[in-house]
Amino acid sequence: MEETDSGAEPAIDWDSMTFSFTETDRMYIAKCKQGEDWQAGIMQDFQELRLSPAAGVINYGQGLFEGMKARRAEDGRVLLFRPELNARRAQGGSRRLGMAVVSEEMFLDAVHQVVQENIRWLPPNGRGELYIRPLIFGSGAILGVAPAPEYTFLVYAVPVGLYFKGGMNPIALKVSNEFHRAAPGGSGGVKAIGNYAPGMMPSKNAKAEGYAEIIYLDAVHHRYVEEVGAANFFCVKDNVLYTPELTGTILPGITRLSTIELARSLGYQVLETKVDIEFAMGADEAFCAGTAAVISPIGSIEHGGNVATYCDGEVGAVTKQLYDALTAIQEGRAPDPFGWTPSV
Ligand SMILES: *Cc1c(COP(=O)(O)O)cnc(C)c1O
Repeated sequence: MEETDSGAEPAIDWDSMTFSFTETDRMYIAKCKQGEDWQAGIMQDFQELRLSPAAGVINYGQGLFEGMKARRAEDGRVLLFRPELNARRAQGGSRRLGMAVVSEEMFLDAVHQVVQENIRWLPPNGRGELYIRPLIFGSGAILGVAPAPEYTFLVYAVPVGLYFKGGMNPIALKVSNEFHRAAPGGSGGVKAIGNYAPGMMPSKNAKAEGYAEIIYLDAVHHRYVEEVGAANFFCVKDNVLYTPELTGTILPGITRLSTIELARSLGYQVLETKVDIEFAMGADEAFCAGTAAVISPIGSIEHGGNVATYCDGEVGAVTKQLYDALTAIQEGRAPDPFGWTPSV
């Protein structure tokens, strides 16, 4: 890619972008000693980190991430989506992992600065999004298994392409009979970095077999649906929506919550409950929900040799309605009665 003057349009082909890493211009960084307040964060050029080999995060995985998007509306506004919920979720995660807690105000200020100082990387309306990645981790050196003496709060951003290029494609999923994502009392309910590496090998194997992702069942009964990779699960039966209740093992997705609230506002009944995999296999529609794809239709689920197919591989009507309504709010194409989309 050709370098351009700062502030100029990057020489980037927006339409060939995928969900992959691109280095941008600027990043936010702040530090905090254990037991003290956060020092004022600064914006700096995107750069590599200096870290002690004994940093808590690389020895014991003390860290979490967040994921959120900025979008350019048709009228030029730059919209975030419920960023205060990312801030609050990160606070809960930091407490669970024994880390210094970033205030909502500091979190939102960092996100705003990162969007503003990388604004040339925000794709034009309808051509992609700026994915924002906040990180909080133990950066101080520590040898024993204990909370690190220093924490870093970092925010960077990466332009990503449209998830569904040329229309929504229902995905094929497989239930894992071998692996679980989280157990009661563990860290499944927070975006702890340590939750993700154990899912990579099962997910890679499922992809090699032609599936888009794995569905995890609960670790106690191996019967109730938990999540789809790193997205939440929904199914629709007789026009009622079902999604696994939050028991601490499931990540409380902001797309999940927004889908529930939006569906209810459209007159649907939504039940947060235990969702038996056998019930889900017999549902009319199924989809997953997360920041990356927003709402992604599920075409089929394989479980123990049986395959459930939804809507003959087409996108279900309820799934489509919710996808259209949610993305219209996120992209500023529809009124936002909920106040979900503050501008930067
Ligand atoms: C981030 C994440 C989700 C989706 O959360 P959103 O806030 O909607 O992006 C679901 N499950 C897991 C495991 C996740 O990490």
